[in-house]
Amino acid sequence: MAVDKAVKLDKFMEGVTARNPGEFEFHQAVHEVAIDIIPYIANKPIYKDLRILERMTEPDRIISFRVVWEDDAGEIRVNRGFRVQQNNAIGPYKGGIRFHPSVNQSVLKFLAFEQVFKNSLTGLPMGGAKGGANFDPKGRSDSEVMRFCQTFMMELHRHIGPNTDVPAGDIGVGSREVGYLFGQYKRLVNRFEGVLTGKALDFGGSQVRTEATGYGAVYMMEEMLSHHGEHIDGRSCLISGSGNVALYCAEKLIALGGKVLTLADSSGFIYAKDGLTKDQVDWVKDLKNGRRGRIQEVSKEFGLKYYKGKKPWGIAGELAFPCATQNEIDGSDAETLVKNGVRAICEGANMPTTPEAVRVFSAASGVLHAPAKAANAGGVAVSGLEMSQNSLRLQWTEAEVDLRLREIVKKIHDECVEHGARKGKQVDYFKGANIAGFTKVANAMLAYGVM
Ligand code: NDP
Repeated sequence: MAVDKAVKLDKFMEGVTARNPGEFEFHQAVHEVAIDIIPYIANKPIYKDLRILERMTEPDRIISFRVVWEDDAGEIRVNRGFRVQQNNAIGPYKGGIRFHPSVNQSVLKFLAFEQVFKNSLTGLPMGGAKGGANFDPKGRSDSEVMRFCQTFMMELHRHIGPNTDVPAGDIGVGSREVGYLFGQYKRLVNRFEGVLTGKALDFGGSQVRTEATGYGAVYMMEEMLSHHGEHIDGRSCLISGSGNVALYCAEKLIALGGKVLTLADSSGFIYAKDGLTKDQVDWVKDLKNGRRGRIQEVSKEFGLKYYKGKKPWGIAGELAFPCATQNEIDGSDAETLVKNGVRAICEGANMPTTPEAVRVFSAASGVLHAPAKAANAGGVAVSGLEMSQNSLRLQWTEAEVDLRLREIVKKIHDECVEHGARKGKQVDYFKGANIAGFTKVANAMLAYGVM
């Protein structure tokens, strides 16, 4: 029986690979889902015969466009922009925009595919999409970033709208970029409407949206631990990244009594043996959002150890939060974490663990591991709440939004337990998230007929 399932999975993946040559990140994301969904639909001919999973791997459409802009020195620059509109079966397309030199079609397809399942898990009516450009905002002046964003939106605005597709931020796209993008959209269509989330509070943003992904990951960790009668208080925590997700993850961990040992960026990581303080995290926020400085400066300011060119996974810690980028924990990092006694991994970043690392964690007895689609869904959940507030033309309080965020994360955890229960109190969070995310979208697609 197990052999039969493996054959079916291999055959399915052969088709995906042949149709999407060279798109390795996309293959990886589809494999991570298919491994659970193929056995799940084996006895459900309606999904199988109508090829729902195959259909879900084909984006509804991919828009690719040229972005030409002028830098401060008067040089003409050419970048490539994308929007992958993956699936809108349960609501308007929704998903972030990433500006990073590594952006290509494969990366955005993996992110858009994941987003479909994640958005479904939140229980809110949102389809899945992702977009971006191979543009690096690092080292660029505000006016260069503004010109880039405005030109990017010149094309993107034709394809989005509050009931069509609602982008948000992601790597390299924070409140500054969202402001420029939204301003340009508003100018082009001459309407003030909730077409982007992550807006500033002064022009239609939601309380807690900035914090939501990091906070949500910590709430997920709390749920996983409390399922076993445990808590965050007093536990040592490893975080990678020092961007939006990482910093609010650190802030919430500290508030709950966690000891945050590390923060990182693409150049290295800092190690605070006794744990970072809230003031130190606030200092990093100013550094990153204001001067856009490097993590190394934190070590100089506070006399902390800096490890150049290294990842934080060699430090002994109980709770790990990869919050930087895809495939940042490989098999050997995972082995080191397990050897050092890691209790749980909660994925703040999207697909931060390689397939080998997923296998290492899954084989290690007692290690809890929440995949990104469940663990970082808090961000898009509050984006969904921002859309609701924009439609209602009102703004909920911080306490109201935070409560809703906690409820959504709890519901996601419950669904993971329902669909991923193993022996005793053990939970396969990957399986649980995949099946729960799949079912709602699949049922909507069935209702629409063959299209
Ligand atoms: P930011 O741009 O705010 O921060 C990204 C951080 O990760 C930076 O510290 C950056 O370092 C580091 N990083 C980026 N690429 C690499 C790399 N190749 N190797 C090592 N470090 C790297 O992004 P976010 O915090 O918004 O996003 C982080 C992750 O969380 C991404 O996977 C994103 O898709 C995911 N996510 C974000 C959501 C959100 O609401 N923002 C929602 C859900 C998921 P450096 O500055 O040196 O590049």
